Amino acid sequence: MNVADTEVVFALLGKCGYERTENIEEADVIMANTCSVRDNAEQRILGRIEQFNIQRRKRPGVLVGILGCMAERMKEELLETGKVDVVAGPDAYRSLPVLLQNAGPDAPQINVQLSREETYAEIVPVRLDRNGVSAFISIMRGCNNVCSYCVVPYTRGAERSRDFHSIVREACDCAQKGYREITLLGQNVDSYKYEDCNFAALLKMVAEACPGVRVRFSTSNPQDISDEVLEVMASHDNICHHIHLPVQSGSDRMLEKMRRRYTRAWYLDRVAAIRRYMPDCAISTDVIAGFCSETEEDHRDTLSLFEEVGFDAAYMFYYSERPGTLAARKYPDDVPQDVKTRRLEEIIAVQNRLSLESNQRDVGKTFTVLVEGPSKRNPAELCGRAGNNKMCVWPDTEHRAGDFVDVTVLSCTQATLICRLADNGSDAALTD
Ligand code: SAH
Ligand code: SF4
Repeated sequence: MNVADTEVVFALLGKCGYERTENIEEADVIMANTCSVRDNAEQRILGRIEQFNIQRRKRPGVLVGILGCMAERMKEELLETGKVDVVAGPDAYRSLPVLLQNAGPDAPQINVQLSREETYAEIVPVRLDRNGVSAFISIMRGCNNVCSYCVVPYTRGAERSRDFHSIVREACDCAQKGYREITLLGQNVDSYKYEDCNFAALLKMVAEACPGVRVRFSTSNPQDISDEVLEVMASHDNICHHIHLPVQSGSDRMLEKMRRRYTRAWYLDRVAAIRRYMPDCAISTDVIAGFCSETEEDHRDTLSLFEEVGFDAAYMFYYSERPGTLAARKYPDDVPQDVKTRRLEEIIAVQNRLSLESNQRDVGKTFTVLVEGPSKRNPAELCGRAGNNKMCVWPDTEHRAGDFVDVTVLSCTQATLICRLADNGSDAALTD
């Protein structure tokens, strides 16, 4: 999401004559787009501000800016460090040119106004050239849930959906510019609603408007993911069969305390529905170990849920108390750090095995893969992701980034499918 937001910032600044540089030594403005979701993300940024200030001291006039969630959360506190000239929250990027113009050695500037309407709908992002084949499209901003551990509703404001016309236009524009994969982004894509268009209708529109492009989306919320969305996924070949469905905990007691509005049974029912519509659909998740008052029994519920679902992949975190959230105000952060760490390690160990087992089940299968480029380890090999989001590598001198290629899986590690070009000729039509 921050990559997508940064692409909007580049577009807004580009219009005012700013150019992007990769070289910090020649930058007049140095900015970081930030995340507040866990404390260590913020600590890293505080370290980066120190680095930026080396430039600021060496070359007076250089401006340092902090954008995004941390700007929104810390506000003036960042300016008070004396090390930051501009602070702009996630809804304030349109004012950046003015903030930068007015900022100076003794004139720090701040705009952390949140908006109920801002979606940057008509701004055509200047894409960061990650691999030239895959583009992010933001479909909504903010979040209306109040998961008790989460700072996002405070830093990104209320949920609002972007006009679907501008989303479809941006998707077609990406297709025309040669992008072969689009990822639709929102904190809770299933609650997308613009006029009478819901997420299922939007997904269908995007998939049908860009038949040569592969479509992904993130993040689905277990409370809201609908059969209608699953049906659209199952009936469109260019929508990838992968759902990121963060569970957070396997214990009903924890889920209630986290204010997630579903139970373990509901979550398992949604997993069963996904598999009914798409038996080959990969499911990944997020989980938090050691949330307030979590017992060994709660933790075992999480481990058993992982086993029961057999996730293909997971992002795993220990609980990090965020100032201002409901949990910070109401519940003591009472699981000792060594217990959090141990529980997280146990979850990681289970998931590592599940990831390996999931990959082993794919040995012998043939997938259509979107080539991202040479593999990092061996330049004679290409790498790219299958529809299920698994990373594949295979020896290949014929294809290049942006091609769709059919590969057959020969073996695997926990992280990678090791493949060869499939027998049927290697230029694939776009199917999942
Ligand atoms: N909107 C998405 C999640 C966005 S935040 C959803 O509801 O699923 C990404 C992930 O960060 C969350 O799924 C959660 O697992 C993790 N996270 C959020 N707040 C956290 C906190 N205070 N401590 C640790 N992990 C947290
Ligand atoms: Fe945070 Fe919950 Fe909103 Fe996700 S749905 S961003 S976890 S409040």
